[in-house]
Amino acid sequence: MNAELITIGDELLIGQTVDTNGSWIGEQLNLLGIKVTQISSIRDDREHIISSLNVALNRSDLVILTGGLGPTNDDITKTTLCEFFESQLVLNKQVLQKIETYFKSRGLKMLKVNSDQAMLPNNCETLRNERGTACGMWFKKNGVDFISLPGVPYEMKGIFLEEILPKLKTQYLTSNVVNKTIKTQGIGESFLAEIIKDWETELVSSGLKLAYLPSPGIVKLRITGFGNNENELAKKIDGFINQLKRLIPNYIFGYEK
Ligand code: ATP
Ligand code: MG
Repeated sequence: MNAELITIGDELLIGQTVDTNGSWIGEQLNLLGIKVTQISSIRDDREHIISSLNVALNRSDLVILTGGLGPTNDDITKTTLCEFFESQLVLNKQVLQKIETYFKSRGLKMLKVNSDQAMLPNNCETLRNERGTACGMWFKKNGVDFISLPGVPYEMKGIFLEEILPKLKTQYLTSNVVNKTIKTQGIGESFLAEIIKDWETELVSSGLKLAYLPSPGIVKLRITGFGNNENELAKKIDGFINQLKRLIPNYIFGYEK
């Protein structure tokens, strides 16, 4: 599972703004156990954005972009994303209403460029921005997740923490699976089950799973554990195998992964 970050903005390349978005998102992903393989800062320019998206598409599972989503003409990220993901821009009435409220509550006149921010790609998930007018967008292409966020750090952080983090946790925090199998012979499945009954009860209540896999003359016992720490799981399973060795020393003839 590889992630890469692309921060967009001419200001990042001329020393006017330091890319704190990249380092902040990098830290957040690292805390989730998601490996970040590259952070690139690129110009607010169609060709650089398209070529970076193509490179990311071929090597990453998750791509997060920031910047360039504002209402001004120099912010061309949204139209470039539409080109890359073959999207149509459609009016999102809910977002338009939010933008109108945002301007009204500040006593500001709303311009067309502002209402244009409610025009959103028809093939992405819209991520709510509670602190500004540019929505985040979550696209999927060839199984790769692409998330585009506004450049303003506190808007980007808000969307990340409220809209993205919970989804990344369910999508990417898959636990490890450890299996170990003990091969027994010379004893039938039901007799074996009777002898190891208490051991099995303890094993199951510790969160592990046990499967009986009988075949002629042989019964395999497969122990399975799920969790975040593979080594800890393996140790825990080994503890139960050692107990089993003492319980049925004459029936065990081998092990499998
Ligand atoms: P908007 O134009 O509506 O402000 P935007 O999504 O177009 O938002 P940018 O124009 O790229 O974002 O940047 C807005 C501001 O956010 C910049 O002036 C800069 O101060 C800050 N910013 C942008 N990118 C970064 C970054 N990678 N790290 C830190 N600050 C950033
Ligand atoms: Mg801008």
